[in-house]
Amino acid sequence: MDITDLQVEGYERVAKAHDPESGLRAIISVHSTALGPALGGMRMWPYASEEEALTDALRLSKGMTYKSAVAHTMLGGGKSVIIGAPLKIKSEALFLAMGRFIDAFEGRYITAEDVNIKIPDLEIVRRATKHVTGLSREDGGSGNPSPYTAYGVYLGIRAALGWKCGDDNVTGRRVAVQGVGAVGSELCRRLREGGAKVFASDQKADRLRALVEEIGVEAVDKDEILALDVEVIAPCALGAIIDDASIEKLRCQIIAGSANNVLLEPRHGTMLKERGVLYAPDYVINAGGIINVAAEFAPGGYQEDEAIRRIERIPQALKEVWTIAEQEGISASEAADHLARRIVAQKV
Ligand code: NAD
Repeated sequence: MDITDLQVEGYERVAKAHDPESGLRAIISVHSTALGPALGGMRMWPYASEEEALTDALRLSKGMTYKSAVAHTMLGGGKSVIIGAPLKIKSEALFLAMGRFIDAFEGRYITAEDVNIKIPDLEIVRRATKHVTGLSREDGGSGNPSPYTAYGVYLGIRAALGWKCGDDNVTGRRVAVQGVGAVGSELCRRLREGGAKVFASDQKADRLRALVEEIGVEAVDKDEILALDVEVIAPCALGAIIDDASIEKLRCQIIAGSANNVLLEPRHGTMLKERGVLYAPDYVINAGGIINVAAEFAPGGYQEDEAIRRIERIPQALKEVWTIAEQEGISASEAADHLARRIVAQKV
């Protein structure tokens, strides 16, 4: 396998690998280990070019540094990307080669699940390197992160209600959840248990119908959910949903959900602020999953109660971000980046 280091300013180590035998073409980007080893998922995607894959790895690994910093996980930020279409290239040999590539980082990069990578894939990677997290509980891992992400989002919504409306109780509040997959469905259950009126949309009609029957959410057309007259919109499906057009339609007071990269561009964060919509920055409110994975690094191994205790600090992190935003007159997303950079700088 050929491993070539790439010099990228502002990044600790970036390397690309090519293994002709297995067909592996991959990039690992370690943005920062200032706070601890760089943890971040492994993504497989049919990138059109190596440049496109590199851009994604750089952007995602930097995002992981910020997310872990604000969540106080004592971890740094990294990410790996494998170039290719899952149905065409997945093989045992490829994941073993990927494991050897990860091992060449000697623990500075630790991998986990991400887009198109499943636990059985990681179990193969684990045979070639020990630097793998997020495996099943039976294998000593922290298991599926989604319920923990949903719990953090639920707490974040309560914090936002407290901040914006003066009362963090969800009883009687109206919340619209876009996407009822792994995180969104669990969030709906918590909100319903708390007495909220929940509207939900999903492009998978069966999934939505099942939730309507199970907990009594109100199904809404997927093109109408963002325009509902509710206190909270919780994006739990796609990124980039807040853009010029959707901002015009918003009637909510709060945007707080699990989806990554909710804002199409940073300026949309400023537009939300100008319209008086409180935004819970994505990587702050959706950190429950990474906090749960990070609990695997505790000296005594993974303990669920410790993970939960740390997830329960998400409201505090959000309040810190909103305070900075108010004090500095900037958007909440800019404030989150300021806070993250400040936390990393204190350790450098
Ligand atoms: P998922 O794939 O299980 O669920 C996403 C749901 O959104 C699916 O049911 C899908 O049908 C639906 N959807 C897609 N397009 C839609 C649209 N236009 N309108 C309405 N619904 C639509 O994914 P997930 O694990 O629940 O994650 C949800 C989001 O949260 C993703 O953006 C993910 O990156 C982010 N996130 C997840 C975690 C986690 O622990 N799972 C952690 C951090 C961030």
